[in-house]
Formats: sequence, structure tokens, C-alpha cells
Amino acid sequence: MREVFVFLPKRTGTIVIVFIVCLFLRASVVQSKESAGVLRAGTAKIDITPEKSVKMAGYSSRTGLSTDVHDPLSARVVAFENNGKRFVLVSTDLIGFTGGTAERFRKAILDEFKLEPSELFLSAIHTHAGPSPTIDEKEGHPHNLEYTKTLETKLVEVIRKSLNNMSPVQTGAGVGYSPVGANRRELTFDSVGNSSIKLGRNPYGPTDKEVLVMKLAKPDDTTIAVLFDYATHATCLGGKNYVISGDVLGLAEQFVEKILGQEVIAPAFAGASGNIDPWFRVLPEFNTEPGWVPEPVLLGTMLGEEVVHVLREIGKVSGGGEINPPDERRIKTAFVTLELPGKPRNQVTMEKDCPATALNITAARVGDIAFVGIGAEVLTEIGMSIKAASPNKHTFVVSHCNGSAGYLPPEHLYIQGGYEINSSPFAPQAADIVVKQATAMLCGL
Ligand SMILES: [Zn+2]
Repeated sequence: MREVFVFLPKRTGTIVIVFIVCLFLRASVVQSKESAGVLRAGTAKIDITPEKSVKMAGYSSRTGLSTDVHDPLSARVVAFENNGKRFVLVSTDLIGFTGGTAERFRKAILDEFKLEPSELFLSAIHTHAGPSPTIDEKEGHPHNLEYTKTLETKLVEVIRKSLNNMSPVQTGAGVGYSPVGANRRELTFDSVGNSSIKLGRNPYGPTDKEVLVMKLAKPDDTTIAVLFDYATHATCLGGKNYVISGDVLGLAEQFVEKILGQEVIAPAFAGASGNIDPWFRVLPEFNTEPGWVPEPVLLGTMLGEEVVHVLREIGKVSGGGEINPPDERRIKTAFVTLELPGKPRNQVTMEKDCPATALNITAARVGDIAFVGIGAEVLTEIGMSIKAASPNKHTFVVSHCNGSAGYLPPEHLYIQGGYEINSSPFAPQAADIVVKQATAMLCGL
């Protein structure tokens, strides 16, 4: 009996100790789950329409200044944060960050917000009906120099706003398809039957028709942002047009925001669109004939409607908030600058070899949605290869991101020649290096 009395308290003590240990272990598991934190995001938008007439970007034959504005240009930002790790996506209604502006703006933004290089995607939708950003004091028009300074201030301002209005979000993604973009490498024959590739329309050529949509919503499922990625140049309008516009991608953004309400932002990202133009391309103006829907508006609306269709199919989202597994809230980013081989002298009519060209590649992942930013005009075959090799369910391929190194064509097109090949600084093998690098970065996230 005595022994039993002694034994029972001992056993109870063991049970209590085991219980406490279990509690401790459970608490630490809960803590490690909580340490994955909540996925938060902030959004902001700012008008970047030029206030004065400016030199317009994209066509060297166009020498005059802009005469009018058809629709406003904007910069849109979605900033993500999880456990102190940030990822800032910027979409601007511009041609790109040419003439040293990518380095300058990136430095200003990274310094101001203490971001890592991999945490910033500074991208442009590549409208050819917008201003030409420049910091070239000698060559740049005074209005463009002034515009570019203001633009830098506005980009910092809009990013600050997005970082300051963060709240918990849920994310979701879906895929649609659109015929708005068409391969522009048209095979033509001269009078004696010699073939060449000219810029035109090649409905049989490879075209990535995917419209990738990411929905960002508050925990109560209120949509706050709709990000979409589509591979087309924003070039419904050509070098004879002097009216400012976001062109097809800018008009698609504006359409989505008009339908969903102005509290929602709809940043577009130009996919791998180096050889893709809108179905109606390089037109001289907005057609004002009675009854005619101007082509940039028609195609922008068509793309915007597909974005809204996909958004509505995504429905109620999950994936970022407290109730979801930690991995779906996690942000990962990576950044490299590659030195890619230049085009050899004998490749096309060139007097000397192109030097090696630096190319920035940025990769990021928010849950199961990935992003690859490439600082060049990537031809569509390359984007499709990256998407096919990506380990992620959805992969945004973003051209004109964090740099503007020129056209990047796939190797097999060099034999055909054509505009993108002739103006590319890269050797034929550069594209394969980029695809392998981007894939390795995505797999490492
Ligand atoms: Zn282009």
C-alpha cells in the first residue's frame, strides 16, 4: 500500500512532465506556423501622363512632339510582404526604361525603401504612344528631361503609398486566352522569289495566347487588384500618331478598372512579346469615322473583357491569409545579372562583333504564383519555354523589367533574319542561357 502511494505520485509526476513537454512542443509548432506570418499587400496608382508636349517613344522617324492625350498613363504598384520579406511589382504605362533610366530609377527606389535588388520588378507595358523617358542632358528634349525627373519622384511616391497601406490579402490565379496579339514575322517574297521576313502579320506563327490573371482580395473577398500578363507589343498605333495613349495594354487596364470600380487597380505586364504585335498594328491615328471603334480601344476592350471573365472564374480566393498553409503566404525572390555573348560579326551585316551584353533576370514567388522579369524584349517562344519549364502552377513572364537590353530571339530564328534578329545585340545561344537561368531561379525559390 505504501509503495502504491509512493508510486502514484511518481507516475502522476511523469504524466504531468509529459503533458508539459507536449504542450511546449505543440506551442513551438504553432509558433513556427505563425512565424510564417500573414501575407499582406498594399496597392497604389499614380497618374504619369505628361503635362507638356513631349517626344514620343518607339519610332525614330517620329520627330515632333505629342499634340494631345487620348487616355491617361499610370504607374500601378502592388507591394507584397510576409514576415519582413517584401516584393514590389511596378507596372508603368511607358515604353520601357531606356537610356539609363532603369539603373537610375532602380537605385533611387532600392535606396529609399531599403529593398534588395531581387525585391523590385520595375516594368513597362511598352506603349509606343507614350513619352520617351531620358536622362540624356545633351540629346533629350527639355520637356522629356523634366518629365523624367517628375516620373522618378512619382514612382518613389506611389511605391511609398503601396508600402504604407498594407493589409492581409488572399490570392488566386486563373488563365484565359486572347487572339488580340499576333505573330508579326511575316514571310514575303520579292519579284524573283527570294524570301525574307518583314514586320507584318503571321497568323500561323507561334503566339502565346495565354491571359494570366492574378486576383488579390481582402480576407472578406473584396478584390483590390487584378494583375494580368499578356504577350503583345502595345503598338496598335504607329509612328504617325502624336496622341498619348496606353495603347492596347493601357486601354485594357483602364477597361478592367472601369468595370470593377476605381478602388481596384489592374496592372498589366507585357509577356514575352518581342515578335508579337496587336492584330491591328502601327496605325496612323485613332480612327474617328462615325461608327468605327478605334482599333486600340477595340482590342484593349477585348483583352480587358477576357481578364474580367477569368477574374470572375477565379471566384472566391484563398492562399495568403491566416487560414492557409504557411507556404502559400511565403515570398521568395532572386536576381542575377548575366553577361550574355554578343552577336558575332558574321551573323548579319555587321562590321564588328557585338560586345557582351548585361541582362537582368528577376524571379519571385508568392505562394504558387511565380514571376520572371527579364530586362529585354523577349520573343514569345522564350516565354513559352520558361512557362513550360517552371515548377510553379502559374508563371508571369514579364518583359521590359528592370532593364532594356534589346531583342532576345530564340536561336532557331537567326537563320531567317528579320527585324528582331537584325537589331538584337545577342548571340544566337543567348536565349538558351536565359531559359536555363530563369528555370533554375524558379526551381530555387
Ligand atoms: Zn518593341
